Amino acid sequence: MARKVLVVGEIRDNLLRKVSLEAVAAGKTIAEGGEVVALLCGESVGHLADELIMYGADRVVTAENIQLKSYTTDGFTQAVMTVIEREQPEGIVMGHTARGKDLSPRIATKLQAGLVSDAIAVEVNGGDVIFTRPIYSGKAFEKKSITEGIICSTIRPNNITLLEKDESRAGSVESVAVEIKSLRTVIKEIVRKTSEGVDLSEAQVIVAGGRGVKSAEGFKLLEELADLFSGAVGASRGACDADYCDYSLQIGQTGKVVTPDLYIACGISGAIQHLAGMSNSKVTVAINKDAEAPIFDAADYGIVGDLFEVVPLLIKELKKEIVNV
Ligand SMILES: Cc1cc2nc3c(=O)[nH]c(=O)nc-3n(C[C@H](O)[C@H](O)[C@H](O)COP(=O)(O)OP(=O)(O)OC[C@H]3O[C@@H](n4cnc5c(N)ncnc54)[C@H](O)[C@@H]3O)c2cc1C
Repeated sequence: MARKVLVVGEIRDNLLRKVSLEAVAAGKTIAEGGEVVALLCGESVGHLADELIMYGADRVVTAENIQLKSYTTDGFTQAVMTVIEREQPEGIVMGHTARGKDLSPRIATKLQAGLVSDAIAVEVNGGDVIFTRPIYSGKAFEKKSITEGIICSTIRPNNITLLEKDESRAGSVESVAVEIKSLRTVIKEIVRKTSEGVDLSEAQVIVAGGRGVKSAEGFKLLEELADLFSGAVGASRGACDADYCDYSLQIGQTGKVVTPDLYIACGISGAIQHLAGMSNSKVTVAINKDAEAPIFDAADYGIVGDLFEVVPLLIKELKKEIVNV
């Protein structure tokens, strides 16, 4: 059953977030041969349309307005709803990011539609679109489908394989005039808590530190290792509570949920609330001096040792590898 699917793209620092391209791939599956239309909202966004087309979007719609320069719930809801009214999609996909978590329930409510959030896989079977999503902090998975109306969904970053990039792919780009009537909130300033770099939720490699890292200085060592992998640094709440790093790095039940290819946990005990945020990592390496630490039960590879000895050794060996490449 061919469907028209609207993919709501996400832009940060003037760049398209990778999860938007993953959403295009999910959109293609849901569309079952129908059209995938990608939407970009912002002040000036047209230059990002080609990337969406190269990764599988059939058409790109841009909604440009000075009021959409920064994300606000009101502004983006109005813009997305304007495009939905025009396009009449049967499916809507966006990233399960802070923005997607905020926007998707509003859109679904306005459409009186069902919403499956935080999906890690999507398939179609006999006309049904079936989403797989983790439940109970990643200890189990459920399969869910929406039986009537528009199919709204958000997808977890780093889980859905991108379609192959095709630079010769063509698709139209249309600009839609959106009127933003009223904004109840206005962004006056954005204060960054972490340095520029790889986004934690989209990082392929994460080096995370816990209370065992012992200081903010200790986190510099983790940064050095993460940089060698072009990865990002994360943390347990223990490390954030101890002021070794900012809470924006916290991974877990009350922090970020991540799914990197490689998660290196350094000096983290492996409390259930931490595992809730990282247990779906593809490969987990734990470094802990306590052989009984629960993190080893969640790890594919465990190194029992002092992280201040092990991490410098890893850095040294990786540097040799990089020189030899
Ligand atoms: C409602 C609620 C929500 C929570 N949400 C989260 C969350 O989102 N994320 C989260 O992480 N936690 C969360 N927690 C806290 C969680 O329960 C743990 O307290 C926290 O994860 C512990 O952090 P940690 O592993 O860094 O510290 P610890 O438990 O103190 O572990 C430190 C580890 O470092 C090891 N170590 C020490 N020195 C070294 C060394 N030199 N080399 C190697 N290893 C060393 C120790 O053996 C130990 O295993 C939550 C708790 C509650 C109640």
